[in-house]
Amino acid sequence: MIVGATLAAPWSVLAYWLLGELPQQPELILIALCVGMSASGSVLLSATYPSAIVYMMVILTPVVVKCFLVLEDGEYRLLGALTISYGLFLLNCIHVCAKLFADRNRAIDELSRSLVETKAAKLDIEEAHKRFDDALRNMPQGLSMFDGDDRLVAFNRQYLDIYGLSPETVRTGMKFQDVFADQTLVPDIIDYLHSFKKRISALGYSNNTVTFPDGRVIYISYALNSNGGWVATHEDITQRKLFESRIEQLAHFDSLTNLANRNLFKDRLEEELARHRRIQTEFAVLLLDLDRFKAVNDALGHHAGDSLLQQVADRIRATIREVDLPARLGGDEFGLIALTGQSSSKNTISMLAMRLINAISAPYEIGDRSVVIGCSAGIALVPTHGERADEILRKADLALYESKSSGKNCVTFYSDDLAAKADQRNILEIELRDALWREEIEVAYQPIVNLSSGRVEVVEALARWQHSTLGMIPPSVFIPIAEEAGLIADLGVLVLAKACRDAKKMPDHIKVAVNLSAAQFAKSDVVEAVIFGLADTGLLENRLEIEITESVFLADDSRNLKTLEQLRKLGISIALDDFGVGYSSLSYLTAFPFDKVKIDKSFIANIDRRETGAVLSSIVHLSKALNLTLVVEGVETAHQLEELRSLGVTLGQGYLFGKPAPFSELDFGSRASIVGHETVSSAA
Ligand code: C2E
Ligand code: MG
Ligand code: MG
Repeated sequence: MIVGATLAAPWSVLAYWLLGELPQQPELILIALCVGMSASGSVLLSATYPSAIVYMMVILTPVVVKCFLVLEDGEYRLLGALTISYGLFLLNCIHVCAKLFADRNRAIDELSRSLVETKAAKLDIEEAHKRFDDALRNMPQGLSMFDGDDRLVAFNRQYLDIYGLSPETVRTGMKFQDVFADQTLVPDIIDYLHSFKKRISALGYSNNTVTFPDGRVIYISYALNSNGGWVATHEDITQRKLFESRIEQLAHFDSLTNLANRNLFKDRLEEELARHRRIQTEFAVLLLDLDRFKAVNDALGHHAGDSLLQQVADRIRATIREVDLPARLGGDEFGLIALTGQSSSKNTISMLAMRLINAISAPYEIGDRSVVIGCSAGIALVPTHGERADEILRKADLALYESKSSGKNCVTFYSDDLAAKADQRNILEIELRDALWREEIEVAYQPIVNLSSGRVEVVEALARWQHSTLGMIPPSVFIPIAEEAGLIADLGVLVLAKACRDAKKMPDHIKVAVNLSAAQFAKSDVVEAVIFGLADTGLLENRLEIEITESVFLADDSRNLKTLEQLRKLGISIALDDFGVGYSSLSYLTAFPFDKVKIDKSFIANIDRRETGAVLSSIVHLSKALNLTLVVEGVETAHQLEELRSLGVTLGQGYLFGKPAPFSELDFGSRASIVGHETVSSAA
């Protein structure tokens, strides 16, 4: 406004001063100039509306004032009136121009705002692209995206690698069939494309697996896009598949002979019994036990024993029909479900059993040795001898005993008088087999306590057999039976599985210790059993401890040592149990890097004897030097605890801290009271 007034002021002064003073012609020129100046200046300044008004008013107002108030002549009044009407017209012009300017400014503002927004959007898009590229590059799977015309829109390096495609030849925009022009996996790529597109459009998603000739398995998952195309992820699941099939194999097959294992045999027996109930089929269960196998194993070693078992399995397979199910049930015990059809007779089964015995009794070549073993068979028939799995197995078992005790290499069918003939030991063995079959062996847990903190660090899993009529049978009775009868591996697997399952529910800092018998090392693949137990329950390796006794070293040093090393590599800790009884050779402590040594409970009973104290004290020093954790078993009194603490023993186990108790009765709470040397109530 000040600029407007300043620019207008000279003209205003000029007009006011010279009007009425000049001759007519110059006066007209003056008026014309003032009018022209006010018009052009106002229009120019109309972008800033008020300054244009001020400019116009400053020039024209003195003309009007002088015409009307000073000169008061008729002609001048006319001039004043014309000036007023001209001023009004000019006012209108200024108004129109100002509006035009304002509109234009608003348009420019909007344009620049939208330019800024477009720029920001572009940055956003670039950022999103970058994030998408990063995700594509770093995702573990291959990714491909095709549009509705089957043209490649996006893909990553992993996608090319999985299918062996070259980054030089694959470009976005290529048709699906051109991307895979060189493939030989599917006979007709267009057909393949149509078939999966049909599946995706029907459901909105789909998936399938592709197996390459080199064994690689790719899992492809498709999802429909809004533009009619699809996005797919491609994952190499070869390792997972291998692992799953390994687990599946371990769960159902014996790893040495590839025959069905006890689990699969059990399942098939139940299936066959169910079928029998539906359509009255008949079948036989044969149990076969090798004679003299142990002698071969002891004389020629485990490798020879393994090779013999494999050859026996091959001969069984070659003798039976495809529909029958052969299985390895334990160390040298085999089973067979023989589906005989409705026209079965005892004769047919007996002939099959004899054929098996003859096949198994023929000489074997093992290395450069010729070996001969024998075979006994026991048979129970469905439905003649029963229609329940445990009943049939028990009866086949009794028949097998009869065969073994009546001179071997023979076949016995079950009959009622066999039950009466069997002695107590045999009956217990058969019942133990039944109990394992029905998974009736329970597991009790006994705490192993840190003597300085009083906290439970480990619980030891101990097998418990509650017999229906004889009551609780101690492990000292049934473990040796299981070992002799070749049932120890099954017992071990059962205890391991239950212990791993229960340990999953215990606090994370508690380890579970499982006893593995030397016989189990000899009779089965301990490492596989452990891997299976962990994989099946998801228990972390570092929460499992294996307790072995020195007898593991007596049998077959190198093989068992290798097994222990494999277990240790898995991250499982190994404890030497019952140290101080038997040979207790110090060399065992250096033969293998044990994590723990457990001093047998027979030791602590004599802790008050000077010699015992001295030996214990040197074991404490030795264990420190060898970096071994020391556990003393059988701690029953506060006095014993006091002695152990003063000797610097780390861990203790015994009735003082808790008797073995079922999982449901365990208490992992603070056991600080033992630190105060008080007697603690047992967990049992
Ligand atoms: P172990 O591994 O040395 O187990 C410790 C044994 O000592 C257990 O006997 C336990 O109840 C007993 N014990 C613990 N504290 C005391 C105490 O303060 N005083 C006395 N007198 N005894 C105590 P259990 O359960 O009868 O087991 C005996 C053995 O049977 C075990 O000795 C172990 O060698 C074997 N065993 C138990 N369960 C299994 C299993 O699942 N597999 C294998 N292979 N062996 C097992
Ligand atoms: Mg033990
Ligand atoms: Mg022990």
